[in-house]
Parts: sequence; C-alpha cells; structure tokens
Amino acid sequence: MKNIKKFIFLLAGIILLSGCSKGGEAKNSSEASNKDNKLKVYASVYPIYDFTKKIAGDKLDVEMVMPQGTEPHGWEPDSDAIKNLENADMLIYNGAGLESWTDKVIGSLSNKDLKVVEASKGVELIKSTHSHDDEDEDHDHEHEADNHNHEAEENHNHNHEAAENNHNHEEHDHEGHHHGPMDPHVWMSPKNAKIEMENIKNALVELDKDNADYYESNYEKYAKMLDELDAKYKEKLANLPKKEIVVGHEAYGYLCKDYGLTQIGVKGVNAETEPDAKKMAEIISYIKENNIKTIFTEELIDPKVSNIIASETGCQVKVLSPIEGLSQEQIDNKEDYFSIMEENLENLVGALK
Ligand SMILES: [Zn+2]
Repeated sequence: MKNIKKFIFLLAGIILLSGCSKGGEAKNSSEASNKDNKLKVYASVYPIYDFTKKIAGDKLDVEMVMPQGTEPHGWEPDSDAIKNLENADMLIYNGAGLESWTDKVIGSLSNKDLKVVEASKGVELIKSTHSHDDEDEDHDHEHEADNHNHEAEENHNHNHEAAENNHNHEEHDHEGHHHGPMDPHVWMSPKNAKIEMENIKNALVELDKDNADYYESNYEKYAKMLDELDAKYKEKLANLPKKEIVVGHEAYGYLCKDYGLTQIGVKGVNAETEPDAKKMAEIISYIKENNIKTIFTEELIDPKVSNIIASETGCQVKVLSPIEGLSQEQIDNKEDYFSIMEENLENLVGALK
C-alpha cells in the first residue's frame, strides 16, 4: 500500500515536471506544445492589441502587455509583464515615443528570440502641439519633454528587425533645445491606423507563414473599414461651423490634421501636466472666444479639472476617447477601435455644430 502511494506521488511529480519543461520548450517553436499550440504575441497598448487581434483572429495567442484600463503614458512594466515577455514570440508596440520602456526592457530580456515590431513605422509623425511651452518657460515641463525625446530617440536606435525607423531624427537635430516630443497618438487617424495594421499584418505573416492568406484577408477587410471610416469622418466634419475642440489631453493631433480641426488640451500630449492657473485662464478664454459649448474628457483620466472649466464656462462635458485603453463599461459593451471612433465622430459633430 505504502509503495503504491509512493508510486503515485512519484508519477504526479513526473507529470508536473514534464509540464514545466514543456512550457519552456514551447517558446518560439512551431511545434509548440503550450496550451493550444499557438504562438504568443504581446501588444504593448490597447489600440495595437485591438489591431493585432483583428488580424490574428484565432490563429495566434494575442495578449496585451499593459493591464486593460491603464493609462499608457509613463507606464512601466512590472515583473509579471516582464515574465510574459520572456515567454513571448513577438512584441508589437506603437512606437513614436509612446512606450518609454521598450528599449530598456527589451535589452534586458533573456528572450533573445523575441521578435520586436514597431507598428507606427512609416507613419509621417507630427510634433506635439506643446502649447505650454509656447506661453511660458516652465522648466519642469521642458525637462520632461527633453527626457521624453531622448527616450524616443533611443527607441529609434535599437537594432531589432522592423525597427529601423529614422523618421524624426532630422527634425530632432534641427530643433535644438526647445523641441517638443513627437505626438505618439498616430492611431487616432484612420489613415495611420491602416499603416499600423499593415505593419502588424506583415509581421504576423512573417511570424506564421502557414496562415499568411488568413492574415492578408483579415487585413483587407479592416483596411476597407478604415477607408470607409476616414471617408465618413471627412464627410461629416467637412461643413461644420466650428473647428476647435477642447480635450482631456492632446491626443488628437493626427485626427485634427486629417480633418482640419484644432485642439487645445487641458493636459499636454503625454497627459502629464496638470494645468496651472495661467493655463486654466487661457483655456477658459479660448472657449469664450471660439464660442465652444462642449469640453471633452476621457475614460482613463480624472475629469476634475475639465469639470471645473466646464462649470466656469457653462460648457457641457462629453467623452472623446483617445482609445488608449478600455474602461470596464467599454469592455462589457464589447467596444473596439471602430465602435469608439464612431462614438467619437458623433460627439465631435455635436460639439462643432
Ligand atoms: Zn495620450
């Protein structure tokens, strides 16, 4: 009897051990034996996750590096996130300076087979509007902007495949000390979202050639939807009397550029600085001068300051989402990039009438 018990324990131990070693071998192997034989792709932030899921369908195990509902600016991966990346086959990140952690973290991983893809590669980047620095010499703010820039440039220098993005080096060099960071919110333009989806599609085709046709046809479907979304934005925003929007943070540079709008942010491009009294006064007079009736807030940023400005000016408060992450309500409603962009358009039309 004792022997049988011993035997069972031993057997259980062997099964456990073999389970562990299987998990380790699964990485980067097409005959992977992880839970459902799928390659593991991590997307840094929500919009990239959503685009990757849409292309990958059920062929790949797509996960997000950040926890859902987290504001991405300044976020750093914790030990769980690092562990996930150690066991991933591919990391797809937005780039353009959004994820300040990528360079440091990727360099420190022992997972040297991790394929790293920058989704915004090939997008024509614009500089953040950076309205704070235009008005006053806020040293803290400048310092932050500088740090941010260095990080962005480091990002651009790392040697991973598909990351040879030289796109804004020249501009950085010419601008001297007072340059602002690039605007990372490229996905807010459907045209740029299409470039990101294409980069993601190409990366997945490279990773998993057996399913290339599947990824291609998913891309074709969503590329068409993005063209339609762009056309709809153009049409609906073309003939409205107002062109100015007041937003939670300056995440709409690409959207404004595409559709001829102008944004003023309660917070800056990295959602970092709370407005001081001077900035508040500036926003309030901007609202009055431009006869603005709506202030936009976001799902992941505390609307306290926006609410104060709204009550000072008699504006209504509406949501304009930068699609940086989903709230629980949005998850429950099965929202995605397209449904949120449709809601954003409705709210924009309402505000600009
Ligand atoms: Zn942002």
